Amino acid sequence: MALTFAIIKPDAVEARLTGRILARIEQEGFTVRGMRLQHLTKREAEGFYAVHSARPFFGSLTDFMSSGPCVLLALEAEGAIAKWRTLMGATDPAKAEAGTLRKEFGQSIDKNATHGSDAPETAAFELGYFFRGLELL
Ligand code: GDP
Repeated sequence: MALTFAIIKPDAVEARLTGRILARIEQEGFTVRGMRLQHLTKREAEGFYAVHSARPFFGSLTDFMSSGPCVLLALEAEGAIAKWRTLMGATDPAKAEAGTLRKEFGQSIDKNATHGSDAPETAAFELGYFFRGLELL
């Protein structure tokens, strides 16, 4: 069983979609191993997205991610990283496949409802950034 790191982003929390997204997560066979509602500071969002610091959208991305509370999640499943990326769909909701979370709940490429780690190394960094080992026992 593998773990991945996921976020229900501020747009989805504000739109009261948390419950529907969590229901979908459980229906698809993930086990929630860690979960916390947190309003990130700008600095925390910048640290989380440090790999994107040279991208033109870094400022707007970190403004958005610190604009309101989000739900931080550690999700367990077989092949959790790829499985969660598939359930989320493409980064741009307009290009995401029918039935994916971003197609159903995303508004735009920046307000795209969810985040998910894209590789084992990123999952390890992101899980460790937000959860202590003791929280994931
Ligand atoms: P992800 O792994 O599918 O989330 O996509 P990326 O790692 O490429 O980008 C991280 C996040 O930055 C995305 O989820 C979007 O919220 C945001 N993002 C990506 N590309 C763009 C863009 O071209 N413009 C803006 N405003 N935001 C973007």
